[in-house]
Amino acid sequence: MTNQSIAIIGGGLTGLVAALRLAEKGACVTVFEAGQKLGGLAASFQMQGEPMEKAYHHLFITDVEILDLIRELGMDDRLEWLESSLAIFRDGKAWPFMSPLDLLRFKPCSLAGRIRLGLVALHLKHRSRWEGLVKVSAINWMRRACGSSATKAVWEPLLNGKFSDSAESVSMAWLWARLHIRSNSREKGARREKLGYIRGGFIEIIKAMEARLKSLGVRIELNARIGSIEEANGRVAIHRDRGNELFDAALFTGSNRAFSRVLPDSELTVDYKTALAQVRYLGAICMVFETDQKLGDFYWVNVNEKDSPFLVMIRHTKLVPAERYGGKEIYYLGAYVPHEDRRFTLDTGELRDEWFTTLKGMHPEFETQRVSQFHCFRFRDAQHVVDCDYESKLLPYEGPFPGLYLANFAQIFPQDRGTNFAVREGNKVAQRIESALADR
Ligand SMILES: Cc1cc2nc3c(=O)[nH]c(=O)nc-3n(C[C@H](O)[C@H](O)[C@H](O)COP(=O)(O)OP(=O)(O)OC[C@H]3O[C@@H](n4cnc5c(N)ncnc54)[C@H](O)[C@@H]3O)c2cc1C
Repeated sequence: MTNQSIAIIGGGLTGLVAALRLAEKGACVTVFEAGQKLGGLAASFQMQGEPMEKAYHHLFITDVEILDLIRELGMDDRLEWLESSLAIFRDGKAWPFMSPLDLLRFKPCSLAGRIRLGLVALHLKHRSRWEGLVKVSAINWMRRACGSSATKAVWEPLLNGKFSDSAESVSMAWLWARLHIRSNSREKGARREKLGYIRGGFIEIIKAMEARLKSLGVRIELNARIGSIEEANGRVAIHRDRGNELFDAALFTGSNRAFSRVLPDSELTVDYKTALAQVRYLGAICMVFETDQKLGDFYWVNVNEKDSPFLVMIRHTKLVPAERYGGKEIYYLGAYVPHEDRRFTLDTGELRDEWFTTLKGMHPEFETQRVSQFHCFRFRDAQHVVDCDYESKLLPYEGPFPGLYLANFAQIFPQDRGTNFAVREGNKVAQRIESALADR
């Protein structure tokens, strides 16, 4: 691919992996990232001098694509498999939710509901075909399979928390993929699930990718928001505030909404923009705070209380040893919300007070004055709504005109987005671009 110039728009994992594969083939690659740093949704910040993900991140043992990348980057020794623990907070209490016995003791739903929950979990673990579930609403499927008591206690809060007012329309194929991956991510015979974490944080992968790209001569431009992309006599023109550049091909890796914004309104793009707009996105809010208090015994707590403003409480230091962070405990509170939801724009102090009040309701021992660090991150377009019609919304890598490509997590189906699939998509789209340029 020598002498082929390629622009990669977006310095998240999809863009970085595509850049790596194309640069390895000899292409002349430039990465344009709008933010100050690389990493996208997997980017980090500093907490106690240690890098922390802005949004909680871990890996499953089934995440083979990113595990291969970690090996390729020579980072195996940084990958740790740590014992996880999961609970559901419901009716004022955290109920362990890891073993069949836990399930039997889960009082928020009827005994019959608990038994049906267990049978459904087993069925989904072993069911390998998902195609018949695409057009079926996940909540309705669960109502039929588990009954209303279990669906009310487990699935409705989960789907409402993740997809807000779109919860009823979410496809069972999406839920199958989540549960299937999760239930198969235990080593055979292991009592507890283990989750992967990179010593030093996910930023280590991003840093290693950056170093590898630079060694291959890739140009990385930060604070480089691309304002528009146009067709230019068989090539692709990229415009940003610092001027225009022409490339033989360009790959966009931001959301469908972000892609639509940079495309011109023309005959060439009108239908394509309509297709992009079919995918609905939600934003995500992640509060991260540090305290010397231990709140509960679980890494991951799904908060299934009706009025909770957040969906999940994560005690990061239950997974990763607190000694790494000066002995302090680190927590995340997370929610997915429509961009127009008041929580997405509310003043951070007010939001913190509201969420901390809920947290104190869950853990009366929680003292806000013992919180020594606090950060709040809000991400636009952090989750797409995978509804029963989603297959018809999937777009190919090929964009609205030759030479322009799209690869983002809205093209992943039926699995949910994740760093593993970002790596897979980056690899696949790079191959597609390579063969298209070879055929020219
Ligand atoms: C709350 C939360 C928790 C998560 N937890 C996990 C987890 O535990 N495990 C896991 O594997 N994954 C997790 N993920 C998902 C994972 O972070 C993403 O799937 C992955 O990072 C997506 O990478 P990407 O490159 O496709 O997209 P992104 O990371 O979104 O990267 C796209 C990049 O494009 C840039 N961009 C957009 N428009 C422009 C423009 N016009 N010009 C220049 N640049 C532009 C953006 O700034 C961004 O950096 C989580 C995500 C969230 C939100």
